[in-house]
Amino acid sequence: MHKANVPMAWRRFKSKYNLVGTKCTKCNSSFYPPRLICPKCRREGKIEEFEFKGTGKIVSYTIIRSGPDGFEKQTPYPIAIVELDEGARVTGQIVDYEDSDLAIGKKVAPVFRKVYESGKEGIIHYGIKFKPEN
Ligand SMILES: [Zn+2]
Repeated sequence: MHKANVPMAWRRFKSKYNLVGTKCTKCNSSFYPPRLICPKCRREGKIEEFEFKGTGKIVSYTIIRSGPDGFEKQTPYPIAIVELDEGARVTGQIVDYEDSDLAIGKKVAPVFRKVYESGKEGIIHYGIKFKPEN
């Protein structure tokens, strides 16, 4: 393998297992997925890599009753828009919940879970999901 490929592969790995986005250090806005240009500061902005803690609160949620291909076995399951403590909003599945946890304002913490398997090799994809905090 060419040496130059290593940091690239690591970056991909890292962004899959952590909530790595970007932040504009000029106005303090954080972005996930990462943005390379701050919409407020434009050319004046200073963008750098930023790792979110992943904790936040539910701002809205919906129950998915018929999943897309590959997700049928998991339905029904809740998907929520989570506002991270640092301000960015991400969409993720809620796991390990009681019905009463599905509420606007409920605090959640990130967990890494299997998202789906693909192909006959059964490649397992992981992604971030959220678990209610008590
Ligand atoms: Zn900015």
